[in-house]
Amino acid sequence: MHQAKSDMLSLKKWFLRYRRDLPWRSQPTPYRVWVSEVMLQQTQVSVVLPYFERWMARFPSIESLADAREDEVIKLWEGLGYYARARNLRTAAQQIVGLYEGKMPSCPKKLLAIKGLGPYTVGAIRAFAFGEKTIAIDGNVKRVLARYFAIKENVASTKTMKKLEELGELLLPADQPQLVTEGLIELGALVCQKVPKCGKCPLSNGCVAFKQGIAKELPTTTKRQKLIELHRQVFLVICGQYVFIQQAKNNQVMAGLWQFPYDDLSNENAINQLEQKLGGRLIEDASWPEVTHGFTRYKAILYPKIFRLEGPCSKGNGWVRIEDISNYPFCSGHRKLACQLKDW
Ligand code: SF4
Repeated sequence: MHQAKSDMLSLKKWFLRYRRDLPWRSQPTPYRVWVSEVMLQQTQVSVVLPYFERWMARFPSIESLADAREDEVIKLWEGLGYYARARNLRTAAQQIVGLYEGKMPSCPKKLLAIKGLGPYTVGAIRAFAFGEKTIAIDGNVKRVLARYFAIKENVASTKTMKKLEELGELLLPADQPQLVTEGLIELGALVCQKVPKCGKCPLSNGCVAFKQGIAKELPTTTKRQKLIELHRQVFLVICGQYVFIQQAKNNQVMAGLWQFPYDDLSNENAINQLEQKLGGRLIEDASWPEVTHGFTRYKAILYPKIFRLEGPCSKGNGWVRIEDISNYPFCSGHRKLACQLKDW
């Protein structure tokens, strides 16, 4: 363990010198760390930066988030994907206000009981915001630890994860442990990447995978799930200055977001069904090139068509002014169509 101690000292120095200047690092309050970590799940730092700044300007505290309307929260999240994260943040803020007077607790048991918080985010909040001696294992840290200790078992398994946690905790020094916790994350993001830059790594003296020449082969993971393709016809129905949109229901993946009516491409009755719903005949006006967007494990290919509704349409009930359409949060594929429609 002597080598590991000296490696962690090198890691601390490396981290203090090379860490990226990120807004949540300059003021690591529990709230800012929490929001940044949730945004960073499945999303790159460069994408998160403007969202984080906008979020903090609009919801500067847990109380302000707890008081916000859900549609406003979703609108601010628009484009980041995995919208359950935004809904959970708001629900969790209400929980924290109700149970802890708006103050994020530091106790792991209480943190884990908060909506949307898992072991990694809890570890990050405890380490970065409260300076506690605890490891936070995300994908980056998994890779670094699996290589540093040359763990060949599948890192997706709970058993291996437990082993990594135990080994990771052993690496943490008593003095400023959070610098090692965060240093491991940063090292995975900047140096110990998929193709590792071992020549630039502060851990190369003690890294077993590097010494054995197997760094690139680790970590071992299960194969990624194949994307499921969805082919959908999308109907942009216009009536004068209005277009028809509908909000996804709570039990749907895109809950809370707005979409144009759509159906499976194979449903030949889709237009008739929509005519019945809207109470008028649909006259096809144009077809647009297909648009692709991905969410969770799906790849949706959208085939958009413009229709005009013959007959009157009432204000409200899903009919919104085309010029106001950017006020509504859309999922990414339908947002592209909404932008296109505004300029049409
Ligand atoms: Fe990763 Fe190479 Fe550093 Fe080992 S020496 S931790 S494999 S970058």
